[in-house]
Amino acid sequence: MPMPEPGPQEVVVAVDAATTCGTDLKVYRRGGHPRMLQAPCPFGHEMTGVIRGVGADVAGWREGDAVVVANSASCGVCPACREGRENLCRDLEYLNGAFADAIVVPERFVKRSLYRRPEGLDPEIAALAEPLACVLHGREAVAPARFETALVLGAGPIGLMFARVLASEGRRVAVADVAADRAEMAQPLGASWTIPLCGNGRDVERVRTVVESDGGFDLVVEATGVPAAWRTAMGSARIGGTVLLFGGCAPGTEVALDTHWLHYSEMTVTGAYHHRPATFEQALELLAETDHGLETMIQDRGDLASVEPILGRMERREILKGVITPRQ
Ligand SMILES: [Zn+2]
Ligand SMILES: [Zn+2]
Repeated sequence: MPMPEPGPQEVVVAVDAATTCGTDLKVYRRGGHPRMLQAPCPFGHEMTGVIRGVGADVAGWREGDAVVVANSASCGVCPACREGRENLCRDLEYLNGAFADAIVVPERFVKRSLYRRPEGLDPEIAALAEPLACVLHGREAVAPARFETALVLGAGPIGLMFARVLASEGRRVAVADVAADRAEMAQPLGASWTIPLCGNGRDVERVRTVVESDGGFDLVVEATGVPAAWRTAMGSARIGGTVLLFGGCAPGTEVALDTHWLHYSEMTVTGAYHHRPATFEQALELLAETDHGLETMIQDRGDLASVEPILGRMERREILKGVITPRQ
């Protein structure tokens, strides 16, 4: 494709680093995404780079600025946006095309979704702002919950980031996954327990034995998007506890809910989707601190020709994430 030129309200960003994500893998396997894009088109959505072209009417940005581009931009005027819930914007626009030498950042993104990359922050770490912003949004979704113990189901990048965020608050965190070696990765991030799961319906008993106080975990975070794990999540919380259902299942998925459990035990069940500008900024601040340990989830590197093999390695669960650096 020819190198793009920015329109009057646009900027062109030369991509320094774009990390691969489970969503990219889904897009690749399914040939599209119901909300984010329609193939054929460029894809990749976790990105950082340097501004290489600035539209004539753009204020506040210049060539050479190092930036992180969020992959969505809200309208700013709908009821959800006015409430500060921009992730639920009625007219949320998505930006894909990070697996490329350069990307055109449309007007709305220039105004609402472009962030300065903190000085000295390694580009491949800066690209993690998007998934971390989603995790911080999920954390806020359960902000009213009182908890000491937390269980995270799923030790993918999202689950591990949750473990890191919750452990850094001083909570005792357990991370469970069918792949024992993945769960183990949570230990250096601050997890108190790691639990290998079997995925056969006995997992609730298995995780509940971990917390001495028989009743289950104060908070359970589901981060797999697998219906069986949604059930395990709801079975693993204590009376009066909170369950955050974070992993998106396929459209039309239904999961049974025990009404007695919900009513008599006063469980709180909540969902969380995507990120907001406030949590995107927080994510960049957190990544700019050096001791977050999140660099361990980048386990492969390559140029644009490596997108497909890296997604293949993710599909075989050999790696958590890869980073694409188009200009090597
Ligand atoms: Zn992502
Ligand atoms: Zn809106």
